Amino acid sequence: MFITVVYHEHEPSEVFGDFDSQEAATQWATNHASADAWEVKEIKPTRQHCLNAQKEYCKQTGAPHFAPYDGICYHCRKDIVTGYEEKWSGLITGCPKCYQSYCD
Ligand SMILES: [Zn+2]
Repeated sequence: MFITVVYHEHEPSEVFGDFDSQEAATQWATNHASADAWEVKEIKPTRQHCLNAQKEYCKQTGAPHFAPYDGICYHCRKDIVTGYEEKWSGLITGCPKCYQSYCD
């Protein structure tokens, strides 16, 4: 989740991403870059990464998309992405701040 490839052959280094897994990133790098010119790195996800990850999770698992599409809680109007980035790769069923459930 949230993996990128940094390609060092050019200056400044180019960043490619986003890959779901270390394997996917390594595969990409192997196909596109000369050996030793790249490294695979975990990156800190942005809000958009998180929102996309939730959509992707629901698409892949067939789970209903309970989370607000803009990452702002319907109930308390707070940003529920920032500080809770890791949660977005799994199903969001409620607000981590006001604890309102989105499944009711
Ligand atoms: Zn809330």
